[in-house]
Amino acid sequence: MSKAVKKIVVVGGGTAGWLTAAIVASHHKTSTSDAIQVTLVESSDIPTVGVGEGTWPTMKNTLQQIGIKESDLFKHCHAVFKQGGKFVDWVQGQDDFYYHPFTVPLGYGRIDLAPYMANIEDYAARSNFQHHICEAGLAPRTMAESEYTAQCNYAYHLDAGAFADLLKQHCRDNLNVEHIIGTVQDVVLAKNGHIQSVALSEQKHVQGDLFVDCTGFSSLLLGKALGVPFVPQDDVLFNDTALAMQIPYEDDSSPIACHTIATAQNAGWIWDIGLTHRRGVGHVYSSAYLSDDEAEANLRAYIGNAAKDIPARKISFESGHRATFWKNNCVAVGMSAGFVEPLEATAIMLVEISARYIAENLPADNSLMAITAERFNQQMHYRWQRIIDFLKLHYCLTQRPEPYWQAHLEDNSIPQSLKNDLALWGYRGPVSSDFDASIELFPAASYQYVLYGMGFKPYFERQRYLYNQDQQAEKIMQRNQQLTEQMLQTLPPHRDYIETWLSKVK
Ligand SMILES: Cc1cc2nc3c(=O)[nH]c(=O)nc-3n(C[C@H](O)[C@H](O)[C@H](O)COP(=O)(O)OP(=O)(O)OC[C@H]3O[C@@H](n4cnc5c(N)ncnc54)[C@H](O)[C@@H]3O)c2cc1C
Repeated sequence: MSKAVKKIVVVGGGTAGWLTAAIVASHHKTSTSDAIQVTLVESSDIPTVGVGEGTWPTMKNTLQQIGIKESDLFKHCHAVFKQGGKFVDWVQGQDDFYYHPFTVPLGYGRIDLAPYMANIEDYAARSNFQHHICEAGLAPRTMAESEYTAQCNYAYHLDAGAFADLLKQHCRDNLNVEHIIGTVQDVVLAKNGHIQSVALSEQKHVQGDLFVDCTGFSSLLLGKALGVPFVPQDDVLFNDTALAMQIPYEDDSSPIACHTIATAQNAGWIWDIGLTHRRGVGHVYSSAYLSDDEAEANLRAYIGNAAKDIPARKISFESGHRATFWKNNCVAVGMSAGFVEPLEATAIMLVEISARYIAENLPADNSLMAITAERFNQQMHYRWQRIIDFLKLHYCLTQRPEPYWQAHLEDNSIPQSLKNDLALWGYRGPVSSDFDASIELFPAASYQYVLYGMGFKPYFERQRYLYNQDQQAEKIMQRNQQLTEQMLQTLPPHRDYIETWLSKVK
């Protein structure tokens, strides 16, 4: 029977739940109209995963769309700027490093600089001033610039718990989201397989037209109640365990890194994320190649004295995603839909993208649910495959000798789609037309930074006649050098900027 879709029930109050509620509610103007009602149910007994401190530049738009001031984010969430990732020891494990900055190379879209570089490993440094800003630890903007603007692209590092709290407050105070605290004990299905309600107790049921499963790894609605199977990806991406720590700075004036530092280890990597008041540091690894004790020893060796009395929290996960993401009137967002690993902070970005899709394509009538679900699933399958390929790219070109890294080179661990890309890139490097621009998560530039950073050298010689813009390329690289020098002089140190800025805003 035809019925308007009016009540959206989000189950789960982690980053995924509150972001989804905020994105859907702000899009449907729930603060001024009661056409749609958004309700969020969360358990006070089941904790959130409590990690997820690196974001993607999409977060700038998301925050503006949902109506959060950037200074509020910084104040409430101890947030800082993130201008990209620095990958240390991924190539040979001998103090090598490369950057994946968020700003595209100079001349991007007009000329690909790679064929004109003698040392392709220097690709980011020669094509992009942001590499140098990160190395110098500078903020992406000066005091003269306003919120959400900057001289280069950026995202944020933030305290995950504080972020969920900020979103919760905003949803309740400004977006008219109904908040129910309770643990879902049962999911009640109608005859047609749609979810009718979630039961918090025998008496208390929350009914809805569309249910968003944001219950994290448990995938209570989509996975358990609707039986959508999990598709493991651990044959491609091997990590399944993380040890996380929160480390104080040496003192209040210690510099704050303005990028995520990802340092490769013998069987995984360590993330190092600076916030204003502490660092979040963690080791993600494969339990098939490393014991917890060995991983903890790696982590403590990386951190040094500051970690002495701080316990490490262990988080286990299974790399993979659901076979489908929207079934009947239930759509999964966040870790209930899947999680492969923390590299490149793709998880929260996918939450933003999924929630925006749901908001923009919310079926007006339940008879449209199946069409919307099919389209959503199609896009999401594409996106998961691109994420898996992009993350695998970080591993499958390594020269590191350890068994974990060598296993990443095994032919049967590399998806065919990535193998096809690498075959094409072997002669020309990544170009925008390799990707479906309308729904692409990472631009060709991201692939270029990682590919060349890992030392991959396309055989440009085969089509050298295409690369006859030597003078133009040289000019751009010189311009990059000028811009770098200019920015190194004008941009303030990261911590100084944040402290001065926040002292001036109310
Ligand atoms: C080690 C690690 C590092 C990560 N780092 C990053 C990163 O840097 N960047 C990034 O983008 N992502 C990262 N992620 C992923 C990121 O943490 C998650 O995508 C994000 O926190 C969203 O999680 P979630 O809301 O889906 O799940 P959770 O945080 O687990 O929230 C689940 C919610 O569901 C509720 N719930 C569960 N069961 C019930 C029930 N029966 N009834 C009612 N409520 C229920 C819980 O109470 C909770 O509120 C990382 C993940 C891991 C494991």
